[in-house]
Amino acid sequence: MAKVLCVLYPDPVDGYPPVLARDGLPKLERYPNGQTLPTPAAIDFTPGELLGCVSGELGLRRFLEDAGHTFVVTSDKEGPDSEFERELPDADVVISQPFWPAYLTPERLEKAAKLQLAITAGIGSDHVDLATAIEKGITVAEVTYSNSIAVAEHTVMQVLALVRDYLPQVGIVVDGGWNIADAVQRSYDLEGMDVGVLAAGRIGRAVLERLAPFGVTLHYTDRFRLPDDVEQSLGLTFHESIEELVREIDVLTVHAPLTDETRGILNDELLGTMRRGSYIVNPARGAIADRDAIVRALESGQLAGYAGDVWYPQPAPADHPWRTMPHHGMTPHTSGTSLPSQAKYAAGTREILEAFFAGRPLRDEYTIVAGGAYAGTGARSYAKPS
Ligand code: NAD
Repeated sequence: MAKVLCVLYPDPVDGYPPVLARDGLPKLERYPNGQTLPTPAAIDFTPGELLGCVSGELGLRRFLEDAGHTFVVTSDKEGPDSEFERELPDADVVISQPFWPAYLTPERLEKAAKLQLAITAGIGSDHVDLATAIEKGITVAEVTYSNSIAVAEHTVMQVLALVRDYLPQVGIVVDGGWNIADAVQRSYDLEGMDVGVLAAGRIGRAVLERLAPFGVTLHYTDRFRLPDDVEQSLGLTFHESIEELVREIDVLTVHAPLTDETRGILNDELLGTMRRGSYIVNPARGAIADRDAIVRALESGQLAGYAGDVWYPQPAPADHPWRTMPHHGMTPHTSGTSLPSQAKYAAGTREILEAFFAGRPLRDEYTIVAGGAYAGTGARSYAKPS
């Protein structure tokens, strides 16, 4: 029987379960590319519940314990005395979420002598040291597509919020004010702007499709070009590199995984080549940006706004400069953990566990590392191109 160790974010401060704002969720069968939604044999939760926190347990306890497995759920993940680190040495499976990542460093993977499977309940497995997982033959899987559309929606919301300068306007109303000149002095229209996307995978492409009706000119760069008919129907201009892309745009949105190639690429030098007053929305990974370079660019006016929901490390410390820098629209890491996203990645996690316990191969699209190499989505999105 296996031990499954699961790290989730803490419960709501007012207790669990919260009163839900709506009854139920819209029913979806497929993702935009035709991929089916998760197909576990059963689920023990009602879609729309808060599943991503400790008491939500991703709805997995009955399924795992009825099968005789041990299931440990904690949010205590930092440092050698944390519950995560104490439970890790005899865990067979670790489940973690990018929103509250249990960093599986080389040192921790060394201690996890029994670990066979690391599941990301969501998308983005950079909190696992993938090179060490490859070396040790640990399988790494994520619930590909589970929250891609949710992140695309959050991105569009933040692009509009920055360009129109929405958040300060709400602040003026909340503070009892009505000075319209103050409210509009940084407010622009998205219409007519050049918008560029770094990485047109599932999220980046959904952002391009959602922004096309705003009357913008769309640009992108990726290691792989989109099909001709997609480029034509969206009017896309392809750029060979991020350096080429950023010179031509007013708004950049970022949707690449965090890898050796993308770490720290939003640095002083690159930001300095952008048009003065550009906007960046980065819901990919915080470490793709140089933290202090972003602050400097906002303070100098080189950037007119920065938003996203990803930080490094997570949770961000109280004195993280992105909390207080000017003209930002940062949220905690929430875009991919809306209630519909939780239903999808909880079901997908169960589907992955069912396959693992039955000795069946995982869906190719869920696989990042398997058999000592990048595989499936991992081979396309994480591995260095050969
Ligand atoms: P995806 O695998 O569909 O797409 C990733 C794309 O990045 C691929 O098209 C790949 O070719 C491209 N790419 C990889 N390295 C690149 C590079 N160096 N330069 C240019 N392009 C590169 O993944 P997705 O579902 O679109 O998710 C993308 C990323 O978004 C994830 O890896 C994760 O880090 C992040 N994400 C964040 C949240 C959130 O809640 N904020 C949720 C889901 C995913």
